[in-house]
Amino acid sequence: MKNQQIPYKTYLEFNEIPKQWYNLRADMKNKPAPLLNPGTHQPMKAEELAPVFCEELIKQELDNDTPYFDIPDEIYEFYQMFRPSPLVRAYFLEKKLGTPAKIYYKFEGNNTSGSHKLNSAVAQAYYAKKQGLKGVTTETGAGQWGTALSMACSFFGLDCKVYMVKVSYEQKPFRREVMRTYGASVVPSPSNETNIGRKINAEHPGTTGSLGCAISEAVEVATSTPGYRYVLGSVLNQVLLHQSIIGLETKAALDKLGEKADIIIGCAGGGSNLGGLIAPFMGEKLRGEADYRIIAVEPASCPSLTRGVYAYDFCDTGMVCPLAKMYTLGSDFIPAPNHAGGLRYHGMSSILSQLYDDGLMEAVSAKQTDVFEAAELFARVEGILPAPESSHAIKAAVDEALKCKETGEEKTIVFGLTGTGYFDMVAYEKFHDGKMDDYIPTDEELAAYREKLPKID
Ligand SMILES: *Cc1c(COP(=O)(O)O)cnc(C)c1O
Repeated sequence: MKNQQIPYKTYLEFNEIPKQWYNLRADMKNKPAPLLNPGTHQPMKAEELAPVFCEELIKQELDNDTPYFDIPDEIYEFYQMFRPSPLVRAYFLEKKLGTPAKIYYKFEGNNTSGSHKLNSAVAQAYYAKKQGLKGVTTETGAGQWGTALSMACSFFGLDCKVYMVKVSYEQKPFRREVMRTYGASVVPSPSNETNIGRKINAEHPGTTGSLGCAISEAVEVATSTPGYRYVLGSVLNQVLLHQSIIGLETKAALDKLGEKADIIIGCAGGGSNLGGLIAPFMGEKLRGEADYRIIAVEPASCPSLTRGVYAYDFCDTGMVCPLAKMYTLGSDFIPAPNHAGGLRYHGMSSILSQLYDDGLMEAVSAKQTDVFEAAELFARVEGILPAPESSHAIKAAVDEALKCKETGEEKTIVFGLTGTGYFDMVAYEKFHDGKMDDYIPTDEELAAYREKLPKID
């Protein structure tokens, strides 16, 4: 390490930050399946989406052909607060593992929201403001998305209403107060403010809520309040487009170092950080210019890619959202209480689902305790205390690096370190006290949820 040729951290110069987002769909031969109207089962048209989403974001959502979108100046300016993010050569982790592999990670946790979600939050808030809207509604589970959106809304002077899954609202009071610091109003979901919330509370007294339920509430309020729209922090095509900044920066930094990735790894909840990280690399792969192994890592407790089915499904519990074709466990699926809150969604981005179905990407799942073991190893050598979600990628990167140790191959591994875990210390505590469990759903359980998928021909 004494004579290292490559710096520990590589930052692009500010004017080297990409000025356009890359739309991976433009290079996909098999395009992701369109969103369907839940009533007619016909592809959703822009005018049908207009009561829910901002106009410019609908254009981005439906555009499968335009390869590049200019990043508006206002967004580029905001990026100065936290971009470029560093590409780090994990020398200390390599040394600890004794691997001949080179390991790099792209660190997105260097902002108050503590995750990559700010990349899309700032874009979505900007377009809402530009459209002259008063505010936006959203849901949040673990709280990273709600925090990122609160930050972006306060910057652009927009009202922000967050429906926070009740169990998180009660267990994560600090996240809630961060959001309120940025001026957001935070409501525990299910609430008694909406029809769907009242219905769910009546049917399931004492329920602690779910992400699917909070989405339904946020959509209901957005569509019934003049001057408001709904925004979502993952899964959607537009979110992957905004997150392509992660991959474009990573590619630019690797090019600068004269390095080429062999394996690219990311954790996958709804698929936004992974979709963003791999975008330019997958583009090269689709155009036949280069080849990469790309690996999605999901929790064994919520295994949508590795054990789900590729089918049309509802995006929320209240069934008010359009149907999306994706790898899914079923919209009623409630994962066991896993500590990676950001990876507990029942479905997966349509873009990643199609790429996976076409065999262009691999997927693995990881058990919670193995993930925390990798997290702790990483924290001790690289310094950063990782989010449980991000640690799924660490786990897979360590596994690949250890394989290289066996074979003696000097592969270059790049993974996405999506965020920090300071708000997840209760989970770390459980791990340290040996009280963390590894519940994995049985085939019978998964089959029962599959039965309930909507029938679409
Ligand atoms: C939300 C979140 C994720 C998972 O979301 P994706 O849309 O799959 O990227 C991963 N890591 C962190 C830190 C998150 O906040």
